[in-house]
Amino acid sequence: MSSAAVDTRKYQLFIDGQWVDSESGKTFKTPNPATGETLAEIAEADKADIDKAVAAARRAFEGKWSRMSARDRGRLIYKLSQLIEQHSAELAAVETADNGKPIKESLYVDLPQVVENFEYFAGWATKIEGETIPVPGKMFNYTLREPIGVCGQIIPWNFPLLMAAWKLAPALAAGNTIVLKPAEQTPVGAMELAKLIQEAGFPEGVVNIVPGYGETAGAALAAHPGIDKIAFTGSTEVGKLIAKSAAENLTKVSLELGGKAPNIVFADSDLEQAVAGAMMGIFYNQGQVCCAGSRLFVEESVKDEFLGKLSEKAGKIAVGDPMNKSTQMGPQVSEEQLNRIKGYVDIAREEGATVLTGGQSPNLEGAFQKGYFFTPTIFAEVKNSMRVAQEEIFGPVVSVISFKDEDDLIKQANDTIYGLSAGIWTRDITRAHRFAKEIKAGVVWINTYNMFNAASPFGGYKQSGYGREMGKHALEMYTQVKSVWVDLSGRPIGWFK
Ligand code: NAP
Ligand code: MG
Repeated sequence: MSSAAVDTRKYQLFIDGQWVDSESGKTFKTPNPATGETLAEIAEADKADIDKAVAAARRAFEGKWSRMSARDRGRLIYKLSQLIEQHSAELAAVETADNGKPIKESLYVDLPQVVENFEYFAGWATKIEGETIPVPGKMFNYTLREPIGVCGQIIPWNFPLLMAAWKLAPALAAGNTIVLKPAEQTPVGAMELAKLIQEAGFPEGVVNIVPGYGETAGAALAAHPGIDKIAFTGSTEVGKLIAKSAAENLTKVSLELGGKAPNIVFADSDLEQAVAGAMMGIFYNQGQVCCAGSRLFVEESVKDEFLGKLSEKAGKIAVGDPMNKSTQMGPQVSEEQLNRIKGYVDIAREEGATVLTGGQSPNLEGAFQKGYFFTPTIFAEVKNSMRVAQEEIFGPVVSVISFKDEDDLIKQANDTIYGLSAGIWTRDITRAHRFAKEIKAGVVWINTYNMFNAASPFGGYKQSGYGREMGKHALEMYTQVKSVWVDLSGRPIGWFK
């Protein structure tokens, strides 16, 4: 199937278990970024629809969902994971058509991880427990770990289904209800997921999916006094807006934001392994990854050899039709993102960096001429203070910075407002662990990159956000603790007897 062959799809909003038009009757279109053609037309949620969805989520939370046993909740989530697995091929095709990521990635990385996340958190539903606290005196003190309530969730376009899974799975396992707003660029996967949520048999209103624009639907959700928590993944800029509006109602917040990760190559590393790791770090998903290794630090003594190998391999990456199984890079998600990346190529040149490879759109044939493609790009001679080393570009663009010794390296690696992830390539085990301790980042990869598992926490230091997704840590974001005191003495207390 070629990218251009997908028919225009139509979707309504999914509120209270029903498919409904938006109150305004408005719709919006999402393109296939490989061709620029319309992929789907979707009902556009606005404040009035968010109000309806929040009310439905509240009713579900106070009603059936809170009375359901943890076992039954877990079984529903598990059933959803199985349905997703059964529909993996269709969902992967939809994901690639909407986002542009190579089908090889949608099918063999995104979808399996979506399934894994629902499966993993299905198991947690029955394992969320309180504690007994050894307090002094004739007192019994225990804790209850309870759901937070109605959760607003706003997700980005880079891993549309996977981001939905990271948000929905732990929130559901903990017993919350949800209003999810997908990104305007990539709403289709979430709407297909809604069909499976319906099929799995979740009670009405437990999950509501309301696509729309960030400034309207997203802002209305974040500011809504009827939600108990807002979870957001996206840019640091919008994350700050979310935190500000949540502060109005003291809504609980978790934020998964941008990054400018250092990926560090020492001279003693296995250079073949490091070159492949550098490429996975920046070219995977067209570089649209919050933990992308976009600052590539290379030890001076191996810089020329390393860059020779890297640029040779980067030049050979197959860029084109994302539906083709041999394609390694598809288009960027939107024209806006493509233009943003091009703008940074100009900035790099103005700042005195050199463009070693790439730096422009490729020449593609037929329908793909209108797609938002960009070639793998390497900026050499970059200084860590330059804008291309400090600002998140979110494209297949890497800034190479050389370093002489470890002290100088750590200082530069930490010299960023972000702190999401970091990579290091070395055979020196002491140095690797020293680095892992000294780097200010939520995730560190040693001689590997972009490794994820539903059981392993992910999240940022500094302006990369707060809270941890996945693993048992994610449950902390979706539960609250109640402390209960019980008298065991049977006697009046205190001095007011
Ligand atoms: P974004 O603007 O932060 O969008 C993320 C989500 O927030 C989308 O659902 C968006 O809706 C929504 N949103 C936008 N403005 C909002 C507002 N005022 N109130 C509430 N919600 C709002 O990110 P983007 O523009 O799609 O991507 C650009 C940058 O985001 C990238 O360069 C990168 O820095 C960052 N990003 C980070 C991640 C990550 O995983 N950490 C993922 C994707 C992007 P709309 O889609 O309608 O705008
Ligand atoms: Mg799209």
